[in-house]
Amino acid sequence: MDLQTAEQRAVELKNLLNQYGYEYYVLDTPSVPDSEYDRYMQELLELETMFPQLNSADSPTQRVGGNILDLFEKVEHTTPMLSLGNAFNEQDLKDFDRRVRQAVGENIAYVCELKIDGLAVSLRYEDGLFIQGATRGDGSIGEDITANLKTIKSIPLRLRENINIEVRGEAYMPKSSFHALNKVKEERGEDLAANPRNAAAGSLRQLDPKIAASRNLDVFLYGIGSSSVIEAASHSEGLDFLDRLGFKTNKERRKVASIDEVIDYVTSWVDKRPNLPYEIDGIVIKVDSYEQQSELGTTAKSPRWAIAYKFPAEEVVTTLLDIELSVGRTGVITPTAILKPVKVAGTTVQRASLHNEDLIREKDIKLGDQVVIKKAGDIIPEVVNVLAEQRTGEEVDFVMPTHCPECENELVRFEGEVALRCINPKCPAQIREGLIHFVSRNAMNIDGMGEKVISLLFAENLISDVADIYKLTGDQLLALERMGEKSVSNLLKAIEASKNNSLEKLLFGLGIRHVGAKAAKTLAQSFGTMDKLASATKVELLAINEIGEKMAEAIVTFFEQDEAVELLKELTSFGVNMEYKGPKPVAAEESDSVFAGKTVVLTGKLEQLSRNEAKEKIEALGGNVSGSVSKKTHLVIAGTEAGSKLKKAEELGIEVWDEEKLLVELNK
Ligand code: NAD
Repeated sequence: MDLQTAEQRAVELKNLLNQYGYEYYVLDTPSVPDSEYDRYMQELLELETMFPQLNSADSPTQRVGGNILDLFEKVEHTTPMLSLGNAFNEQDLKDFDRRVRQAVGENIAYVCELKIDGLAVSLRYEDGLFIQGATRGDGSIGEDITANLKTIKSIPLRLRENINIEVRGEAYMPKSSFHALNKVKEERGEDLAANPRNAAAGSLRQLDPKIAASRNLDVFLYGIGSSSVIEAASHSEGLDFLDRLGFKTNKERRKVASIDEVIDYVTSWVDKRPNLPYEIDGIVIKVDSYEQQSELGTTAKSPRWAIAYKFPAEEVVTTLLDIELSVGRTGVITPTAILKPVKVAGTTVQRASLHNEDLIREKDIKLGDQVVIKKAGDIIPEVVNVLAEQRTGEEVDFVMPTHCPECENELVRFEGEVALRCINPKCPAQIREGLIHFVSRNAMNIDGMGEKVISLLFAENLISDVADIYKLTGDQLLALERMGEKSVSNLLKAIEASKNNSLEKLLFGLGIRHVGAKAAKTLAQSFGTMDKLASATKVELLAINEIGEKMAEAIVTFFEQDEAVELLKELTSFGVNMEYKGPKPVAAEESDSVFAGKTVVLTGKLEQLSRNEAKEKIEALGGNVSGSVSKKTHLVIAGTEAGSKLKKAEELGIEVWDEEKLLVELNK
């Protein structure tokens, strides 16, 4: 790249970064994901390294934070509140470690802390009394938000020692407060807050402290700006000192002796992160010794003794190339976004469900758009929104077809439903999806017979309904592409084994409308055999607690069909079990066990029992196992690595047992 091209691009990048920075820091309403901002920042940093003459004092690479609003009094920070250098991978961490060791020698301890995704605040105390709280602002000058900070209950108004001290930390909005805030906003028809970080920043920059108070913010303190007394020679001791003064610090911090241990800590939090009750966007690594910290010093923007490891981006921008349509088991047509492959939270994503036509209209999605992608619950990719301002005019509206892409039957939309459906019962796509459902894990659980094998067998006309699965021969399977002796023999064994499944698995596998895995279990437990269920009346079905009108109707209709009767006969003739084999739950009144009538929640990893076994045993003693902890929970069983549920139980004062105690009580 020549200087002229680089200069042009640098100007573009500076303008973009300034605009995004303003929206993020001043308006608290970012228009692009952080990863997009970080990507431009990295690009500008690289250009400035290549051509140092491009690096001006006003470059966003040299700036901390954003401008300050005139709404609040200005506060000059006695020592600047800096930003942090970034690390995006293991190599960046190792490079940081090498730079540190080169500067201060080999004897290094690091402190790893969670990087809380909120905003930096400074709290000033005189004679132990809280007198002023400020934002970071541009690093040298911040905004006086004392009144708002006083609404945060974990900020002590008086310390346990009457000293002068300025402490720094992160004010944040817990996930629960964030969801509550957005729920209210939704009800009022207001724009939703983009993320807890911006919601926290917005709340603390309200002129009316009552609003800030209603937002239920919290704080973690992580450093000392200056102090008349410091009973500490290192950062870790400094944090202990803050604890003693009555400040809230984050307890997940860990002091380690090497960069490898830092990397272990970082890795361990990638998985544990979703269980935290607040958002973190990375891990901050700091050299522990204060003496070594001052030897290392700071650059204009950030200390050389600390670095922030950023987790892989959870929201990224990519191009929507196409929208593909698929036909589900129940005939529902689902549009899927085909994306230019992009890394999200560590894995490459190229498809994301768009759910239905309404969603495409609501989000105003066009073919060729730049879209923001995130992984919902860290697993399923979803399109968050479109970057409409990045349109070139080449984007094309998407038109939903009027006919089934698979069988060409006309599609219908039932009243009150958002989905378009193909209602042709012979639609091959629906039959194929029904077969895939039948062999899936929660249904008949036929190992080795996933989507691919079913699709092949279906395409070869070897199966056209679920009974055909039990007619398959070894030779037929061997003739399929990429099927060896071993896999065929395993598959036949799995098919055979599935005949012994308890009734609920078959029931769920049949794909009766509205009957999910849980309802199938209830039905199997209540009726015991397929015959009894098949002859149940709607009234009898409705008498069962969890069965509603729609489901009862669907069940009766299903068993009235000649095809269903035929199918069940055929399956019986192949030896497929039609009876419930699990334990019968005992009514609370009939049990004298400690579990009788109690609502129990299982969390963490159990060593001796599987979750399902534990659940069945508890239910067999008259207990009720539920998935989430609430005030109604009587008892929580916590295995190893229990996370947020255990925390919640402790907060609510609910009795908690470990696995050992559970086993003792189960065996009484
Ligand atoms: P930073 O967030 O990368 O790191 C510095 C900050 O980390 C500190 O100021 C402090 O507030 C915080 N922090 C949290 N826990 C800490 C701990 N334990 N110890 C020390 N510090 C801790 O830097 P920054 O300058 O605040 O902001 C850059 C971030 O803002 C980037 O993530 C960037 O993507 C985002 N940003 C996004 C946009 C956008 O448009 N989406 C625009 C501007 C900035």
